[in-house]
Amino acid sequence: MTVSIVVPLYNEEENVEVLHERLKTVLDALGTGYEIIYVDDGSGDNTLSLLEEIQKKDSDVLVLSLRRNFGQTAAFAAGFDFARGDIVITIDGDLQNDPKDIPRLLSAIKDCDLVSGWRKKRKDPFITRRLPSMIANWLISKVTGVKLHDYGCSLKAYRRDVVKNLRLYGEMHRFIPAVASWYGVRVAEIETTHHPRLRGKSKYGISRTIKVLLDLITVKFLQSFSTKPMQFFGPMGIIFGIIGFGISLYLSIEKLFSGVNIGGRPLLLLGALLIIVGVQFVGMGLLGEMLVRVYHESQKKPIYTIKKILGPGK
Ligand code: UDP
Ligand code: MG
Repeated sequence: MTVSIVVPLYNEEENVEVLHERLKTVLDALGTGYEIIYVDDGSGDNTLSLLEEIQKKDSDVLVLSLRRNFGQTAAFAAGFDFARGDIVITIDGDLQNDPKDIPRLLSAIKDCDLVSGWRKKRKDPFITRRLPSMIANWLISKVTGVKLHDYGCSLKAYRRDVVKNLRLYGEMHRFIPAVASWYGVRVAEIETTHHPRLRGKSKYGISRTIKVLLDLITVKFLQSFSTKPMQFFGPMGIIFGIIGFGISLYLSIEKLFSGVNIGGRPLLLLGALLIIVGVQFVGMGLLGEMLVRVYHESQKKPIYTIKKILGPGK
């Protein structure tokens, strides 16, 4: 078994050296092959030159330098693309996660495919960070149906095939366990140590909460409707269409048989509106169906995931 450690770093010059020492101590004791992938996410400080120094002295280190600051999710994605280990572990570069938890992650992943850290005693400010996180964690577990205490913890371990099949967008890294479990990946959670940030600044504030909520809506939509958009839009379209048609029929009968003037009646507007909306919804469902096919076929992405193949030559 070999292990790849992926570390995103954005302006962490005060932390990289200590981090590297602590990682080495833990990893050397493992007795397995490993690599450390430091992803410099367009830092404006000395992070990259410090990483270059570390890399020169240590052949277990791979440094990826992104052209500009793309964000933590993109930094993880870059690390995943280059990782060669059987198990891939992500950890923050600011010393808030503790490398000493790595052996426990590795033993926990023996029985599953993804192990997520839980910062039970989280050392971040309450109002701006922990409170929004509590709400977000509660919402995410309700909406996605995947029960974890702490989605935002960067310290996670993945089996290789899990990260190689991921496509990450936006700020989506916190939703990896949820998305993965929809594909049948077995997810577990263990408590991990968390330290306050001693050096350098946190890159996030309260505004991140809104982004997380928007991402949650996207994720939920993708989960529920991305393989069957017509089932979502179609029924609403048909119901609206039928009500609109009924209203218009009723008004037409009144006009034709009783000669009532229907031109100024609000009901006429409603009937016309419902018919139009109904047609639009069905149309959106059809467009959605086309998009789903384009998506799967252009990427040669099957609509299923295979765990194992047994047979001759396998
Ligand atoms: N990070 C990054 N790119 C960014 C923002 C953050 O690579 O655009 C890294 C950062 O250097 C750190 C980790 O992601 O290693 C977590 O960031 P931070 O500690 O600021 O987040 P917090 O712990 O406050 O949630
Ligand atoms: Mg941090």
